[in-house]
Amino acid sequence: MPSTDQRAKVPRYAASLDFDALWGDFPPPDEYFQVAYLRSRDELNSIQNQRFLRQMKRAWQVPFYKRHWGAAGMEPGDIRSLDDLQRIPPFSVHDLRIGLEKEPFWADYIGIDPEHDDPIPLIVQTSGGTTGLPRPMIFTPQDREVMNIITGRRLFMQGVKPFDLIHVTLSMGLTNGGVLAREGIWKYSGAVPVMAGSGAQTSTRRQIELIQAWKPKHLIGFPAYIKHMGLVARDELKIDPRSLGIKGLIVHLGVDDRTAMERLWGADAYDTYGCNECGTMAAECRHKSGMHVFEDAFVMEVNDVETLKPVPVGERGVVFITTLFKHAAPMIRYNMNDVTSWAADTQCACGTHQRSITGIYGRSDNMVKLRGVNVFPEAIGALVSKDARSNGEYVCLLEGEAGGREDMIVMVEALDDSVSHSALEGDLKARFKEALSVKVGVKAVGRGELDELTGLSQTSKIKRLIDRRIKM
Ligand SMILES: [Zn+2]
Repeated sequence: MPSTDQRAKVPRYAASLDFDALWGDFPPPDEYFQVAYLRSRDELNSIQNQRFLRQMKRAWQVPFYKRHWGAAGMEPGDIRSLDDLQRIPPFSVHDLRIGLEKEPFWADYIGIDPEHDDPIPLIVQTSGGTTGLPRPMIFTPQDREVMNIITGRRLFMQGVKPFDLIHVTLSMGLTNGGVLAREGIWKYSGAVPVMAGSGAQTSTRRQIELIQAWKPKHLIGFPAYIKHMGLVARDELKIDPRSLGIKGLIVHLGVDDRTAMERLWGADAYDTYGCNECGTMAAECRHKSGMHVFEDAFVMEVNDVETLKPVPVGERGVVFITTLFKHAAPMIRYNMNDVTSWAADTQCACGTHQRSITGIYGRSDNMVKLRGVNVFPEAIGALVSKDARSNGEYVCLLEGEAGGREDMIVMVEALDDSVSHSALEGDLKARFKEALSVKVGVKAVGRGELDELTGLSQTSKIKRLIDRRIKM
């Protein structure tokens, strides 16, 4: 039945976007590196300002912001440039949940109304959903393509070339990681994604056999799993991971020990920072001098955890992100809860003037206050992985009464049977006391015994903190 009603039309992906305009605004590699990557600070500021005002205009159409900003007495037109950014009230995942309670899918932060808007091709990915239902994030073609272009840029910066094979150990499921990696590699790098998935989808031994036979040049995954793969190859299959020809380990490094992972695989490890809502936001180039923020697509802030005011270079704070390209669920001052610091303003040898962050040190909401001291499980992991008698696998158990006497016990896997558990426990206990300024217990166990608690070989979201406190 012919119809002129726009709402009855089935949308087509390729026709829903002006690709030339998109690539002009957000140049993909390798073009990006010839001009846009080398922009001066002034040029970057002016592009950010212009895109920020456009993003604000879109955000005012989104019910979530009308509610959140309206409650703070803000009105359209109050924010006249990026200089006013600090005046906008930030938000966190907790604020998003209010809208989700009313509408679990088309939540008010998405800003798309299926009852009234013209059809547009959409996809959904979710948060990990460790508590309650996973949080949906819907992407329009524009949102998705910018994220894909940035994946392509990041891979180019980290040495990926056309026809390279990239072995990806992230799952293709509700969460964005694997799906987004596949799209970006496929569309904007010229390389070929090999979607092996987590150890639950393709056993670790089979993954190593594939790597040996197909010879991918790069590995993408969580550091814990990449380390696990290397150890399975070396110790169980008697294959030296360094003989497998991997050149790059493309990871979100966190506080994991880069050097140990690089030595194990004989490859360079590159740090990357991204999230389910926005894709990659910052990445290291081959000089490994901090993660360069893709500032034509994001405004990043690093703010004090308590005062929420900007911290100076070198001081730790929490990441706030503002997107400059999103139609569905634009993010304006989203408190990511990730702790980082700005890298010094010395220019990287790659020539970019974009600002850089040093690394991600943990999550401010994962932070445990133990007898008045802030403890990051990730920092404990960094100390564990420095001890050669452990394979670096650990999990922190919180016990006792919430608000009363609380204790943390760190369970650690020994590398093999030759390791004395009591010696390892005693030494780590002393090391933790010295580095964290608070006493925690240590229990050493055999290799693989923490698997069930952490989910290491089954999921890509590895648990490092288990809260067993009794709520009073
Ligand atoms: Zn660089």
